[in-house]
Order: sequence, then C-alpha cells, then structure tokens
Amino acid sequence: TKLTMNLGERSYDIILKNGALENLYQFARLDRRVAVVTDAGVPAEYAQRVADQCRDAKIITVPQGEASKSMKILESVLRQMLEFNMGRGDLVIAVGGGVVGDLAGFAASIYMRGIDFINCPTTTLSMIDSSIGGKTAVDLGETKNIVGSFWQPKLVIVDPSTLATLPRRQYINGLAESVKASLLADPELFAIFEKGDIDEQIGEIIYRSLRFKKSIVEQDETEHGMRKALNFGHTIGHGIEAVKGVKGRRTVGLYHGECVALGMLPMIESKALQKRVRAVYRRLGLPLRTAYNKDKVYAEMLHDKKAQGGQITVIKVPGLGCWRAETIPVEGLRPLLGMED
Ligand code: NAD
Ligand code: ZN
Repeated sequence: TKLTMNLGERSYDIILKNGALENLYQFARLDRRVAVVTDAGVPAEYAQRVADQCRDAKIITVPQGEASKSMKILESVLRQMLEFNMGRGDLVIAVGGGVVGDLAGFAASIYMRGIDFINCPTTTLSMIDSSIGGKTAVDLGETKNIVGSFWQPKLVIVDPSTLATLPRRQYINGLAESVKASLLADPELFAIFEKGDIDEQIGEIIYRSLRFKKSIVEQDETEHGMRKALNFGHTIGHGIEAVKGVKGRRTVGLYHGECVALGMLPMIESKALQKRVRAVYRRLGLPLRTAYNKDKVYAEMLHDKKAQGGQITVIKVPGLGCWRAETIPVEGLRPLLGMED
C-alpha cells in the first residue's frame, strides 16, 4: 500500500508493505553516499539490509534509548557524516524507532543546511506516529525535543515484518497512539481494538493510523491549528511521563504510549465511551491506572512548554470519532486529574 503525504514540493510517499525494507532500492535513489543511522537495540540485520542495497553506505550505530537524543550524540553522528565525506546530494536513512528517527532526521536537517532523509521506522510507535510529519529533535538534559526542526523525509518505508523482534510491551506501547487516532476520528479502527485480532490486523491498524496522521499533517504542517488534535492525552500524559523520583529516576516507569493512554481517559467526556476504552486497554495490556503522585504530575504540567500565561489548550473527546480543543486555565487540570480544586 502506498500513501502520499501531500505537502506541495515537500510531498513524499509512505510505503506500507511486509518486506519493503529489502526493496528500498525500488523507491529511492541509492547511488550516492548513504549514512544509515540505527541504534544498538535494533537488530543489526535491518540496517545491514538497507546498507546492502547502497553503492557506498556507512552504518552509524548510536547507543539504545532516549539518551541518544542528545547534542553529544548528534555531534558524533554529524562528525561521522563529515568523515564519510558526505555532500549536499547525499542521503541519511534512519532504521529504528522514534529515537533514531528524531536524531537522524535532525542531523539530516542541519548537515550542510539540510540533505535528503529517508525514514524506515521499526517500532509501532514510529510507524504510526513519529516517522511522518517531519518533526525532528534532540533533548537538552531533561527537556524533551527542545532543539529541533521541521524537516520532511523524502520517503517513509514501513515494513511491519520488522515488528516480529520488537518486545511485546514496546509493541503495545505504540498502539496507544493508534487508539488515540481511533478515538479522535476512526470508529472502525476502534472496533478493531474492541473485537479484532490485533496481530492479524496490524497492517490495517497501521494503515488507518497513518491515514489519520497524514490528513492532520496535510492540513497543518507546522502545528498552528488542527495538528493540536494529536496532543489528545498528551497534556496529562507528559505530566505523568516527566515525574521523577530521587536521583532523577522516573518513579512511574511507564513508556510514552502508556502515559498517553492514562492521559486520554479523563479527556473522554462520555462515561459509556470511557468504559469501552478501559476494556480496550485491558484487552491490549495498557495501564488502567497507576500510582502516580498527582501533585507532582500537576507541578510538571505547570512547566509544560504549551502552558503559556496560565492557560493551556486540551483536547477533549465528547464521543467516539469526534474531538474539540478547549483552552482552560491550568488549574482546570486539577479536577481532570481527580484532585480537589
Ligand atoms: P525507541 O526508538 O527508543 O525504540 C524502543 C526500543 O526498541 C529501543 O530500545 C530500540 O532499540 C528497540 N527497537 C526498535 N525497533 C526494534 C525492532 N524492530 N526489534 C527489536 N527492538 C527494536 O522508542 P520509540 O517508542 O520508537 O520512539 C520514542 C521516541 O519518539 C521519543 O524520543 C519521542 O520523543 C519520539 N517521538 C517523536 C515524534 C515526532 O513527531 N517526531 C512523535 C512521537 C514520539
Ligand atoms: Zn505521543
């Protein structure tokens, strides 16, 4: 299946097909220097499979985990690109999850003021969400995605066969973003989560999630309006995700999608739909509740970069497949968190 992201001269194709990684050469010009960026947790054979199709490739492997979205690792990637004598016409290919995609995409966007970038996502989260839309970034210390750019890829290759090696918890984690898409705009996708065989229908789940994200990005490439819908579940979700315990360790220990899953529940305004969503979480193995410290989560939300001037825009879902944005004073988050006013 092929989807096209229509963004004028920045348009690109998204290829969704089992085995697509082996056939990258059919879709892209690989007769140039190619930096294939991956991380140590991604099975090395995937990057190798891509490199094997190139005339002149160099595989750059960064450490696994969010810590690789740093200025230090970014510099090391850029230095390796320079040592490889890459020029303006050359290409960066990311093979991995959102960490690799965000890092490699950002490196491509600033090397020689921007060179071609292709994303080959290998986690559900990156296939469904981070690989399309053109947001790239690294973190500064504890502040996530604070240094980055909008840089659209030239091509996105989604090969669901790479999910066979992804740990189950990571696999389910990414599907939370797909549940998000279903609640915002796709009741039929929600029905798959309620009744379907998730593994058997993973291609359809990815396709529908991509179609949703594509339509949002096409309407609002640089997040001035519609794209805000994607923040559904993320205000409280980021708050939960950011809570740290002693020595900066995450006390909650939940993955991003798991935090978003928790963050969506209070934003669903129908009790009946809330109940169905809980049943879906139970079915998938997403958390229904967690013992997070509400005061700490609230304190984190006050620091949210989107909470400017005491106001914050949240996305609410009144019923299945519809949403609206609501700007509320930050204190309005307290009752949503189940705190006393
Ligand atoms: P990740 O990239 O860290 O991948 C999760 C883990 O799975 C890693 O340890 C990785 O080594 C491993 N892995 C990846 N593919 C594998 C495979 N096929 N088999 C086995 N192991 C595999 O995490 P993620 O959830 O993919 O992405 C999270 C990142 O995405 C965050 O940094 C987040 O900020 C970013 N993100 C970006 C956007 C965007 O629009 N740019 C959107 C959402 C999230
Ligand atoms: Zn998210």
